[in-house]
Amino acid sequence: MKYFILFGPPGAGKGTQASAMVEKYNLRHISTGELLRKEIAAGSELGLKAKALIDAGALVPDEIVEGMIESEFKSAKDVAGFLLDGFPRNTAQAEDLDAILAKSGEEVTAVVSLMIPDEMIKERIRHRAAIEGRADDASEETINNRIATYHGKTEPLIGYYKNAVKYHEVDGTGTIDDVREKIFSLMDRF
Ligand code: ADP
Repeated sequence: MKYFILFGPPGAGKGTQASAMVEKYNLRHISTGELLRKEIAAGSELGLKAKALIDAGALVPDEIVEGMIESEFKSAKDVAGFLLDGFPRNTAQAEDLDAILAKSGEEVTAVVSLMIPDEMIKERIRHRAAIEGRADDASEETINNRIATYHGKTEPLIGYYKNAVKYHEVDGTGTIDDVREKIFSLMDRF
């Protein structure tokens, strides 16, 4: 099984590119953000707990997202692998992912990192807010907190995966088509 991680700041275009990637390489898309939003929409206890944290631009507890990831791994059938989008988001989650995969003799295949500058993060999120109406895109304060959470907790994963020689960066500032072609030529190598 292949385990790709789609990495990048909020608004980098992960969700947009993920659909083309999963289709071309027969992967199961696992977006922890989307799974959490489904829980919120369903009004579950887990969703209720997650909502306050998501609206504050903070991370939800590691064990919640890790439980979701493990159950997605178990339920997937007839796929060549997985595309993890929004996970891992801090060093503890990356270490736990390595441990989860090691139990079945697997490992992370590659990290595809979509990079855009901070100014573009805000521009893209504002644009998405108008289209998708996500609660965590609506407030300037939430957006700022998410960017701070990214720099403080998620960005250190770049070093983690560079050490593991699994880190591959793609310039996320071009058009959707340009970025997709760059991602495909990278993924063709695995
Ligand atoms: P974005 O693409 O803007 O980064 P996501 O849809 O990936 O947004 O995530 C939305 C929110 O869900 C995050 O700001 C965070 O609160 C929560 N979340 C998503 N994935 C994780 C995770 N792996 N660990 C903790 N919290 C997460």
